[in-house]
Amino acid sequence: MNTFTYHRAATLSLAKDAFKGHENVKFLSGGMTLLPAMKHGLIQPEHLIDVTHLSELSRLEETADHLIVGAAIHHNEVASSPMVAKAIPALAYLASQIGDPQVRVRGTLGGSIANNDPAADYPAGTLGLKAMIVTDQREIDAQDFFTGFYSTALEENELIQYVKFAKPLKSAYCKLKQAASGYAVVGIFIAVYPNHEVRVAVTGVAAGVFRWTQAEEAFQSEHDQPVLERDDLINDLHASSAYRVNMAKVLFRRAVQQIKNS
Ligand SMILES: Cc1cc2nc3c(=O)[nH]c(=O)nc-3n(C[C@H](O)[C@H](O)[C@H](O)COP(=O)(O)OP(=O)(O)OC[C@H]3O[C@@H](n4cnc5c(N)ncnc54)[C@H](O)[C@@H]3O)c2cc1C
Repeated sequence: MNTFTYHRAATLSLAKDAFKGHENVKFLSGGMTLLPAMKHGLIQPEHLIDVTHLSELSRLEETADHLIVGAAIHHNEVASSPMVAKAIPALAYLASQIGDPQVRVRGTLGGSIANNDPAADYPAGTLGLKAMIVTDQREIDAQDFFTGFYSTALEENELIQYVKFAKPLKSAYCKLKQAASGYAVVGIFIAVYPNHEVRVAVTGVAAGVFRWTQAEEAFQSEHDQPVLERDDLINDLHASSAYRVNMAKVLFRRAVQQIKNS
């Protein structure tokens, strides 16, 4: 690993100031992705700005319509929070299914969505739950935030502060895990909102998380065989694209059943 300078800024503005005058700077959250990438020489930042202790990134609150989760909140905090379990049980369940206990203790919501791994779980929950991503500069709709393979709408030094999830009437998350890492071979998040509004978000299947609009229509018409056709399907050592498409349909049916039974 190359040498780098570690900054632990006391405030959000000092964290932003640490960017000034430097090139090749990265925010550091739990380091679960960033540090292995550095060890393997995939990226070589010269400055790391630790943001995990900033109060602006540590909110975990409920309002009438939203659940607010700070970017520095660890997966295990979401998984074990009675407030999250009551407000959006499927989100607590999603967090409980990420990786293993060590990953859940270190990994954060902000790091997960900023990284936007095509097999990560939180992008599905974020897109499925009509979330707004609040940064130090603006609010970004989840639909505009995830822009493709490991890419997001974030600017170079833009810091996610928290995510505002819209509380649904009902929701469910079903996932087929990769055996070693726990990442999703396929993950399906369904959320139902008033006025028959339904969101279905899919992870693990394509180059990035996406809304499965045919499944949203199928949910409303009580038809359980939606078509899934894309030209960016993943075909790798974990599963063929045909298997993923089939499992997406299976998990969609399971998630629908969970919602009907809840
Ligand atoms: C063995 C293993 C198994 C895993 N299994 C799963 C799994 O089953 N499902 C799953 O979804 N994930 C899984 N993960 C990923 C894990 O959940 C982490 O969320 C992910 O690695 C990001 O790590 P982190 O939060 O520590 O962020 P970091 O590694 O610190 O940062 C990741 C990226 O996000 C940027 N960043 C961090 N915070 C912010 C912020 N507030 N604003 C803007 N940019 C920011 C960083 O600069 C960096 O580019 C696994 C990871 C490992 C190592």
